[in-house]
Amino acid sequence: MLQPVTLGSKTLADYTHIFGRDQIAEIRELAEPLKGARVAHISATAFGGGVAEILYTLVPLMKDVGIDVEWQIIYGREEFFHATKLMHNALQGAPEDLTREQWDTWRRYNEMNAKELPDGWDVAVVHDPQPAALHGLVPEKARGWVWRCHIDLSTPNPATIDELLPYIRDYPQTLFHMEQYVPAGLKGRVNVVPPAIDPLAPKNMALSPDDASYVCGQFGIDVDRPLMVQVSRFDPWKDPLGVIDAYKLVKEERPDVQLALVGSMASDDPEGWDYYNATVAHADGDPDIFILNNFNNVGSIEVNAFQSHADVVIQKSIREGFGLTVSEALWKSKAFVGGDVGGIPLQVEQGVTGYLVRSPEQCAARCADILQDPALGKALGRRGKAHVRKHFLTPRYLRDYLKIFSEQLGVSAPGTAATSSSQPDSSSLAEGAA
Ligand code: UDP
Repeated sequence: MLQPVTLGSKTLADYTHIFGRDQIAEIRELAEPLKGARVAHISATAFGGGVAEILYTLVPLMKDVGIDVEWQIIYGREEFFHATKLMHNALQGAPEDLTREQWDTWRRYNEMNAKELPDGWDVAVVHDPQPAALHGLVPEKARGWVWRCHIDLSTPNPATIDELLPYIRDYPQTLFHMEQYVPAGLKGRVNVVPPAIDPLAPKNMALSPDDASYVCGQFGIDVDRPLMVQVSRFDPWKDPLGVIDAYKLVKEERPDVQLALVGSMASDDPEGWDYYNATVAHADGDPDIFILNNFNNVGSIEVNAFQSHADVVIQKSIREGFGLTVSEALWKSKAFVGGDVGGIPLQVEQGVTGYLVRSPEQCAARCADILQDPALGKALGRRGKAHVRKHFLTPRYLRDYLKIFSEQLGVSAPGTAATSSSQPDSSSLAEGAA
C-alpha cells in the first residue's frame, strides 16, 4: 500500500514580501485553469534528504493555489531500498551495478506499487529512480506523467543507466536540475529546472544570532569560538571524511576552530549508519568535532541554528544533484565553501558568492581565509543571499511546475505561452537558474 503523507498548510500570499507581488500574481494566474486538477507526487521516503525537504513545502503550496494534490510514499522493504541505494550510487557514477536479482527486486516492488497506486490522476509526478517504472506499468492511471530526477546523472555507470532508460524514456515530461544530467534517448519533453528552498520553513526562517548561538550552545559548541559546519546525510558523496581532513588543516592555523557535522539518517538509506560510524572513527575522539544526527534531536530549527551560527558553511560533496544545503546557507548570508561539482556551481559563483574547491587542502585554505577575514565572509554571504532570492526560492519552483502541468493537461493561463503542443525547450524553464 502506498502511504499518503500528512501535510501542514502553507499560503502563497505569505511569500509576497520576499518574492514580489507581480511574481505571486503570475503564479496565481498560471494556477487558475489548473484548479481542481488531481496531482500525485510519488516518492520513496517522507523523511531525510532533499526530495522530502522540497515536497513538504511544494505540496502545501500547490494545494493553496487550488490543485487537488497528494504526496504518496511507495511501499518498500530493506531489499528494495538496498537495491535502490546501489542504483542511486551507480547512477552517480559508482562502478558497482545492481545484480540481476536486485534489478528483479526493484521491478517487483514497482509492480506491487503500480497495482496499489489509486487511479484517476490528472498528473502523476514520479520522483527519482526508486518508483520510476510506474509510468510504464500503469500509464492509464494518470493523464499526464512527469519524472523528476533529483540526482547527478552526468557520469552514470553505463550499465545502470542503460537498464533504467527504458523505464524513463517514455515519460511525456522529465525534469532535471541541469542540462548535463539529461541522458540521451528521452522521448518526452525535457525540462531543466533546479529545485528551491522554502524561506519561511523553520529550517530557513530568520533566527536571531542570540537564538542561533543559544541552540548551538546546547549541543556543547563553544559559541565564542569559530565554527565550521556541514549539514548532510552521512554518505560518501557528501565527503564528511574530507571535511574532517580540511578541518584538521585549518586547526593547525586556528587551534580554536570547531567543526559540526550535522546529518539526518534517511529511512531509505541503510548504508547511512555504516558511514556515520566511519565518520565518527575518522574524527578520532577530537573534542572539537561534533557529529550530530536527527536521533540526537537535531531537527529543522537546530539545522537552521547551526547554519545561522556558523562562521563558514561547507558542502564538500564529490557528487551533488543540487545541494539544497548550499542555498540554505546562502539564504542565511553565510560564507560558503563547497565542492565544485553538480548543482553547487549553479548556486555559487567562485569568489563572488562563495568558494568552489576540489580537495580538502583547497577547502581548508578557503575556510582559513574566511575565518581570518570576517568582512570577506560577510560580503560573500550578502551576495549569496541576493542570488538565492532571485533563483532558488520555492515560489519560482512552484511556477515552473505549474507551467509543466499546464502543458501536460493542455491548458494555458491567459497571457502565458504554455500549450500542450510546445516542443522540447529546456531553456525557457532553465532561465530561472541562469
Ligand atoms: N538535512 C536535515 N538534517 C540533517 C541533514 C540534512 O534537515 O541532519 C536537510 C538539509 O538541510 C537539506 C536536505 O536535508 O534540506 C538535504 O538536501 P540536499 O539537496 O542538500 O542533499 P540530498 O540529501 O538530497 O542528497
